[in-house]
Amino acid sequence: MKRSGVIGAGIVGLATALSLQESGRQVVLIDRLLPGEGTSSGNAGIISTGAVHPESMPGMWKEIPAMTLNWMAPVRLRPSYLFEFLPWLVRFLRNGNVQTAEQASIAISALSASALEHFQPLLSKAGAQQLIRQHGTLYVYETKAEFAKAKEECAYRDRRGVVYQLLDGVALHKLEPSLSVNLAGAILTPNSAHTISPLALSQKFFELFSQQGGEYIQEQVSGFTCDGSTVAAIQAEQEIDVDEVFVTAGAYSGVLAKQLGSKVPLDTERGYHLMLPRPGMDLHHNLIFPVRGFAATSMQDGLRLAGTVEFAGLDAAPDYSRAEHLAKCAANVLPGLQTKEGVCWMGFRPSVPDSIPVISASPHYQNVFFGFGHGHLGLTQSAITGAILAALAGDKETPVDCEPYRIDRRW
Ligand SMILES: Cc1cc2nc3c(=O)[nH]c(=O)nc-3n(C[C@H](O)[C@H](O)[C@H](O)COP(=O)(O)OP(=O)(O)OC[C@H]3O[C@@H](n4cnc5c(N)ncnc54)[C@H](O)[C@@H]3O)c2cc1C
Repeated sequence: MKRSGVIGAGIVGLATALSLQESGRQVVLIDRLLPGEGTSSGNAGIISTGAVHPESMPGMWKEIPAMTLNWMAPVRLRPSYLFEFLPWLVRFLRNGNVQTAEQASIAISALSASALEHFQPLLSKAGAQQLIRQHGTLYVYETKAEFAKAKEECAYRDRRGVVYQLLDGVALHKLEPSLSVNLAGAILTPNSAHTISPLALSQKFFELFSQQGGEYIQEQVSGFTCDGSTVAAIQAEQEIDVDEVFVTAGAYSGVLAKQLGSKVPLDTERGYHLMLPRPGMDLHHNLIFPVRGFAATSMQDGLRLAGTVEFAGLDAAPDYSRAEHLAKCAANVLPGLQTKEGVCWMGFRPSVPDSIPVISASPHYQNVFFGFGHGHLGLTQSAITGAILAALAGDKETPVDCEPYRIDRRW
């Protein structure tokens, strides 16, 4: 039996480990943290089956001045990080043209459209169905101008065949009465789902992994022992002998990929959340406020306001005033919201400039595979990523054409 080493026990690594077990492998999962406790624990919990828009859209460059000048802008670049960040930013902006955005939209949609379908077997085997609600997502717009622009961008949804509904302010308020009566309208994607606890979901997947004989090593991976074009062992505090390696280390994957001969422009879009234990309301749908750059999701331990983007790299200290600011943004649209006793958190979205994750065999090592760079959609695309990686490693047909996700694509 082949022994697979999976580096990173976030939601992507856990889903990959389960898919590898399903295909008959013995799996060792390695992480310096406990399973699921990194970025995967703090997200907004949305399984966005209707996601079709890349982050870099035509006209995006106009937003750069606000990014650097306004401290609380939904997307913020710390001036001290500008020099290091410049190559990524240039690539990101280069992707913001009509043709490239369309190609990215096709690649994103191919993963998101069947995201839930790939989650279902894992959820039922792990007994985690009770952590999922399929109530749909509301993309909410405050002004008529914002709503009109959003309707134009529905052309991407139309071309990808996403089911959605347009709601005016009155219909929106009827559907989600906690929202202010004065909003312009919303786009409802009824087939999206959410989890009421991203951490509990990872923990359920880990329980299943362990029950199925999976091994867990809580150590930091520092490198690899190679024999020609094969990796023979993973170097941590101990040498871990493996027959194949899967790099699913989220925002930290770039360093490991580089050691394996693949240079990827991976940066991090740091995101924040504010967990409100006694919000005084229970939302039925998950809400996304695209213009303010955050989501609101009712979870098992309160209401989570999560989002915004901060470019400041992996090492800079968190700026929790960004998380606290979410309470003010939310109070404008959810008038009865109680924001006392909020708990702040920050995580690292693993982001590549074209918004297309890397799901790929290594071009340099015959037994190495990569699954990282899912940016804003790592929870959504985790189960299908695991299924693709297991198929690639087993030389089986993959659920989607893998060409767009190659690690050696033109960056
Ligand atoms: C505020 C916010 C809201 C979000 N909302 C959503 C949402 O609603 N829906 C959605 O789909 N996505 C969302 N995301 C994105 C999603 O959370 C991420 O894309 C996803 O968690 C990435 O998962 P991952 O497994 O790749 O990385 P991680 O969860 O970061 O896991 C990587 C693991 O690798 C380990 N690791 C790294 N390097 C090493 C090493 N050298 N040795 C050992 N271990 C190592 C880390 O400790 C970590 O546990 C959101 C993100 C943020 C920040």
